[in-house]
Parts: sequence; structure tokens; C-alpha cells
Amino acid sequence: MLINNVIGLTIASGLLGLCIGSFLNVVIHRLPKMMEAEWANQCAELRGELSPPPPAEPLTLARPGSRCPHCGHQIRAHENIPLFSYFLILQGKCSGCGQAISLRYPIIETCTGLLSAFVAWYFGPTPACLGALLLIWALIALTGIDIDTQLLPDSITLPLLWLGLLFNLFGTFTDLPSAVIGAMAGYLSLWSVFWLFKLATGKEGMGYGDFKLLAALGAWLGWQMLPAIILLSSVVGAVVGIALIVLAKHGRNVPIPFGPYLAVAGVIALFWGKTLTASYLGLIY
Ligand SMILES: [Zn+2]
Repeated sequence: MLINNVIGLTIASGLLGLCIGSFLNVVIHRLPKMMEAEWANQCAELRGELSPPPPAEPLTLARPGSRCPHCGHQIRAHENIPLFSYFLILQGKCSGCGQAISLRYPIIETCTGLLSAFVAWYFGPTPACLGALLLIWALIALTGIDIDTQLLPDSITLPLLWLGLLFNLFGTFTDLPSAVIGAMAGYLSLWSVFWLFKLATGKEGMGYGDFKLLAALGAWLGWQMLPAIILLSSVVGAVVGIALIVLAKHGRNVPIPFGPYLAVAGVIALFWGKTLTASYLGLIY
């Protein structure tokens, strides 16, 4: 009976994940554009200009409905079913203009669906399952936005930090003192690396968004996980960075965002961090 429940929960969570993945595509696409519009408004205000008249239909996450970026074709409901529409109805092309639709949309839906199913299977029907789902969805949105724009929006990283503290108020992932120290130590550790690097080389190697993201991961998982997260993200970053330079002739001076590596490391630490930490502490003592 219990096994049936877990299988049901896993399937339901996977299907929910597909739909959330579809929404995350919208967030990744629109949130940077909404931020740009707001910055433009603020700059105009500071220069003492009248802010430009707001567009007839301001862009929000909910409105207007999804459109083809090439021809403006309004995506209809039956064209908006995760995965199913892309492969079976549209076959990867816009029904208005026939332009190919980027594979990243079904890829993000699939990743969100699979990770959500795994979270449900791993945590079962617990508060930790709900928390882990929210954490993973936020990390997927941050990864997509950082790859596109090299930004990690405060409107995601800061609520993520508070939410981590809220779950750990009840000891969901770690005890509250570990979570609070994790948030502070996460921010300060990358902040110190940033300033040392800047003093030594005169260059800025990462952004403030990275500090806030590591602070959020510290709030969710506790300070004990921070060394593992930094180590994992450096390993993932080095492997991907070398692969990009070798395979795609990615210029060595083109900045490679650090946020995605932190996010991947955070997901690994969420599931296997305790095992990892125990094994390397075992090596030391
Ligand atoms: Zn089109």
C-alpha cells in the first residue's frame, strides 16, 4: 500500500513538474525583459525625464499569452501542452510561420518533470518533498536566466533564502542555527573570494547574485554543506568550462556564468550532500 502511494506521488509529481517546467520557460524568457523595462523606467526617472508611457499591454509573467517570437502567432491551448504539443502536434515548428521552436523548451520541461518525480520518490509524502520541489524549480529558473543574461534576479534569490529559513524553522532539512549560519557564511565566503580576486587581478570574477545564491543554498542545506557545494560547483565548472573552450571554441575571456554550477551543486548536495560530507569527514578523521 505504502509503495503504491509513493509510485502514485512520483508520477503525479512528474506530471506537475512538466507543467511547472512549461511555466519556468516563461519565467526564464520574460523575467529579464521585465527587469530591463523596470531599469529603463528608473533611469529615466533619475534623469528627471518623464518616464516613457507604459506599453498598452505591459509584460508580466501571466500576460499576454505565449506568442511565437518570430511571427507573433498566439500559442493556442492545445499547442501549449508540455512535451506532447512540441513533439506530436507542432513537431518542433510554429504552426503560424513554420520556424523551428528551440529545443530548450522541451528540455527544460523534461528536466523539471524528471527532477520533480525524483524528489517525490526520494522524500515521499513529507514537508521536505514540498520544500525540495520549490527549491529545485527556483534553481532551474535561475540556471536558465543566468545562462541567457548572466544575471541571478534578486526577485528569485532573496525569497529563496527566506523560504529556506522558513522550512528550517521546523528543522526540515537542517536545524535553524545551521541554516542561519549557512546563509551568512554562504554570502561571506564568495564575497571574500570576489574581493581577494579583485584585489589580486583587478577583475571581477563573479557577481553579487552568486553570493546571494550561495547564501540561499546555505539557508536551505546548512553551513555544513557549503564546502561540498563550492567543491562540486568548481569541479562541474572546470569540466564544463574546459569542454566549452575545447569543443565550441568559447573565447577564454567570454564570461562563463557561475550560477548554473552553484545550482547543479546545490541539487547534488540536496540529495547526496550528507553522504558526501560524511565520507570526506571520514577521510580527515
Ligand atoms: Zn511563428
